[in-house]
Amino acid sequence: MTSIAKNIKQLKESLPQEVQLVAISKTKPVTDIQKAYDAGQHIFGENKIQEMTEKWEKLPKDIEWHMVGHVQSNKVKYMAAYVSLVHAVHKLKLLKEINKRAKNEERTIKCLLQIKIAKEDSKYGMTTEQALEILKSETYQKMKNVQIVGLMGMATFTENEEQVNEEFAFLKTTFDKFSETYPELEILSMGMSGDYQIAVKNGSNMVRIGSAIFGERNYN
Ligand SMILES: *Cc1c(COP(=O)(O)O)cnc(C)c1O
Repeated sequence: MTSIAKNIKQLKESLPQEVQLVAISKTKPVTDIQKAYDAGQHIFGENKIQEMTEKWEKLPKDIEWHMVGHVQSNKVKYMAAYVSLVHAVHKLKLLKEINKRAKNEERTIKCLLQIKIAKEDSKYGMTTEQALEILKSETYQKMKNVQIVGLMGMATFTENEEQVNEEFAFLKTTFDKFSETYPELEILSMGMSGDYQIAVKNGSNMVRIGSAIFGERNYN
């Protein structure tokens, strides 16, 4: 068994059944993705639209592709035909563009709103108030080709587990509150290689794991 297959198997065994695993394959070659696919992993995530599209073209068509990175509106058109979940919607304007491009493709694209839970300035995301405003807005209510199905968050990159725990707990509380009014919110995407166990303990039902499956990334 390849190490990638072994990692997938171990992760799937350790995760509670209700937690979906998104294998984050950014920077990794299609041969690595194929190995994970052969091991039964059919959901992959990327953070660059162009890279994801090149991989989508080459790989089996029953793969579910998730865009987990920051999305620029002018690139939405390249993924509109096939993307199944956009994790990091950070403003209404982006949602409008996704709706427009999805309509052209006669599809509905599922989206998550990214909430800023980390104290780091470098992380994108909106406040809970801004997220609620979008859900409530007539502009969103009228959109027929996007569907907000949950929330996503990234914790601070720190050794301080207490802080990570607090940030995930905050997002889970927000998610539960929102779900009372908007029962269509079903996905809570939180947790990466370094912190997914803390995320799962806090109620995550979708983890985005890259390096723990494919090994460290080399950006050169
Ligand atoms: C890269 C990335 C991940 C996966 O990171 P690992 O630490 O390699 O598991 C998860 N979420 C997002 C948004 C990412 O960009």
